[in-house]
Amino acid sequence: MKNIINFHTRKCPFCGRTYAEHPALSRRDNKTEICPDCGVREALASIGIKSDEQEQILQTLHRYQNTDD
Ligand SMILES: [Zn+2]
Repeated sequence: MKNIINFHTRKCPFCGRTYAEHPALSRRDNKTEICPDCGVREALASIGIKSDEQEQILQTLHRYQNTDD
């Protein structure tokens, strides 16, 4: 069983998700810390990927990520 209490969590100002991963910096102002998923979304949006495609890509990424550490 995973123990995730008090693990320096942050709240993403974009999607509202609470996360414990290393934050990404928003490309919009280069200082707002956002969750890794929103970091990926911004990166994809910056190369013209539409939001529904962004979600599909994120799902694919999550499928191959090892989240057990
Ligand atoms: Zn987010």
